Amino acid sequence: MTNEPIREDLAAIPRYVPGKALPQALKLSSNEVPYGPLPGVPEAIADAAANVHRYPDMGVVRLREELAARLGVDADRIATGTGSVALIGHLLQAIAVPGGEVVYSWRSFEAYPIAATVAGLRSVQVPNTADHRHDVDAMIAAVGPDTRAVIVCSPNNPTGPAVTAEELDRVFGAVPESVLVVIDEAYREFVTDPSLPDGVERYGDRPNAVVFRTFSKAWGLAGLRVGYMLARADVADAVRRCVIPFAVNGPAQAAALAALAAEDEMRRRVALVTSERKRVVMGAREIVPDVPETQANFCWLPLGERAVEFAAHCEARGILVRPFAGDGVRVTVGLPEENDALLEALRDWR
Ligand code: PMP
Repeated sequence: MTNEPIREDLAAIPRYVPGKALPQALKLSSNEVPYGPLPGVPEAIADAAANVHRYPDMGVVRLREELAARLGVDADRIATGTGSVALIGHLLQAIAVPGGEVVYSWRSFEAYPIAATVAGLRSVQVPNTADHRHDVDAMIAAVGPDTRAVIVCSPNNPTGPAVTAEELDRVFGAVPESVLVVIDEAYREFVTDPSLPDGVERYGDRPNAVVFRTFSKAWGLAGLRVGYMLARADVADAVRRCVIPFAVNGPAQAAALAALAAEDEMRRRVALVTSERKRVVMGAREIVPDVPETQANFCWLPLGERAVEFAAHCEARGILVRPFAGDGVRVTVGLPEENDALLEALRDWR
């Protein structure tokens, strides 16, 4: 015990580092889609603006019902929050017990260690394979009596590969039902390999499955902060108890519904991104041969000790990318001309 009012363990939590935002720069640092909001979204926000003197629908009923209908499940199995990052935190709060652990691959989404520590859970980080994929067998081996959840990030931020159905089947087969298998599918819409599993379709009815999705990426609503999750009804209910009241605001709820109504355009934009992705990966491999395969809207340059230096080189050319010191650089797939600029920066780099 110290006399300080702040929890000592908070000091050890790395801070969440957002991608930089410099005006005028090409922003390839936060995995957003570059095409602006989907059609109908600005109008929906404008309409909802007339009611911002009132609290929003706390139950997020219309949006949860629409999502439930699309996923073919009951709405009581869906929880929403201010981005899936907040919901992941709430889920860990809902399952945390003293001495509890959460297993996840590393490197993966930087919010996991933060959310785990804030919830009071110990992180068990399992190193990725040499080709930047989840090491599923090692993750299974890391599950012990104190494990509360295993988080599978698929496709994995920041490295790009997704886990296969066979790998996820093994995880579900190996862990007891008391351990949640959390599948973070923030980038699911960008998956083009048809053999890869859809977490909702393949595992949605498993009692210990939790699937996270977000409106921030393919659906173009990063600035409004709307994420959702599917789980067993009692797990979803527990998470809703932890969510801050009125977390998803009225314009955000309206915008998410309008985005869903523009699904065809979303798919068209995602197809542009995934076709550019192929070009970026092939171009990048001419300079950095071991760029891993990616199923997301970004790719990973495993530059090791030169990661920060390459990010600075890009920034000097007006391109923002996301370095992870000593490890690699994550580059979001942007507009064709932005990708050209990135590939040119790579070619000019020595
Ligand atoms: N999961 C993963 C794997 C992510 O990369 C991100 C965003 N970077 C999120 C969740 C959170 O997204 P949001 O909070 O915007 O829904």
